[in-house]
Amino acid sequence: MIPTNFEYHKAKSVDEALSLLQQHNGDAKILAGGHSLIPAMKLRLNQPATLIDIAKIPELSYIREEGDQIVIGAATTHGAIANSGLMQGALSMYAEAASMIGDLQVRNIGTIGGSIAHADPAADWPAVLLASDAQIVVSGSGGSRTIAATDFFTGFYETALNEGEIITAINVPKPPANTNSSYQKFMQPASRFALVGCAAMVTKEGDTCTKASVAFTGVSENAFRDINVEGAMFGQSCTAESIDSASALAADGKFILSDHFASEEYRKHLATVYAARALNAAC
Ligand SMILES: Cc1cc2nc3c(=O)[nH]c(=O)nc-3n(C[C@H](O)[C@H](O)[C@H](O)COP(=O)(O)OP(=O)(O)OC[C@H]3O[C@@H](n4cnc5c(N)ncnc54)[C@H](O)[C@@H]3O)c2cc1C
Repeated sequence: MIPTNFEYHKAKSVDEALSLLQQHNGDAKILAGGHSLIPAMKLRLNQPATLIDIAKIPELSYIREEGDQIVIGAATTHGAIANSGLMQGALSMYAEAASMIGDLQVRNIGTIGGSIAHADPAADWPAVLLASDAQIVVSGSGGSRTIAATDFFTGFYETALNEGEIITAINVPKPPANTNSSYQKFMQPASRFALVGCAAMVTKEGDTCTKASVAFTGVSENAFRDINVEGAMFGQSCTAESIDSASALAADGKFILSDHFASEEYRKHLATVYAARALNAAC
């Protein structure tokens, strides 16, 4: 399939991209890596009259420390995050998740901002952003605002992004001492998207878990934090037994997807297994 005709603009700055979006008033779409948008256009699920390419805007592509957070530009590729030294240590789940996305070509072109704007229910980044309490910075004609990851992913391919807004950055708080993280996923064998993906971040005092953040993707209509698993880990020793009993609560009370790749029952089972793997690795 080939897409319908469209106009193409290459923006040199965020301001130019925002003004182009305004000029084309609802009929334009942002193009970043194009790895989700172009296939959707080829299938004619999406037929924008205008594409505004932001992939080469320098102010959108970086990973840097800013005070007590690490900031990732929205057009930073998955590959750049996978290879980032800043994303090692307590935030290593970022590098882990990035290195598991698609193949080399997808990782070298696809962007973190494009992935979270698209909000595929099986995408990897949403779980990682949720588990790390990330904030998403967006710009629109009225200025900038920051949205907590917990408020950003609102449904099946749905986000809190308004028409005419561009994601410019992801702010990730630097974790406290004695914190580690891990992202584990069961991949759909062809696409490598997550049938179930689990991101876990654990802070310990001695061997006791003083904070656990656990988030899933692939399991429900959108990625979510699992407060049942988190609550069951709190105050526990990080033993295989406590991790297994907390993980057994994974996705309890959630609507669970079912399709020809994985039934509801199988996904729920995978959620418990991958919660245990992520928590074990983070502990
Ligand atoms: C073969 C293949 C395998 C893949 N495997 C995986 C996988 O294992 N895990 C995974 O998570 N993903 C996977 N993906 C998806 C991939 O990660 C995409 O790169 C990603 O979903 C979209 O990012 P993009 O930069 O390509 O965005 P685009 O396709 O350019 O854009 C996607 C959507 O986001 C909007 N958008 C883009 N950037 C912004 C922005 N800064 N602000 C506001 N809106 C924006 C666009 O308008 C569009 O609606 C795979 C894709 C392919 C083709």
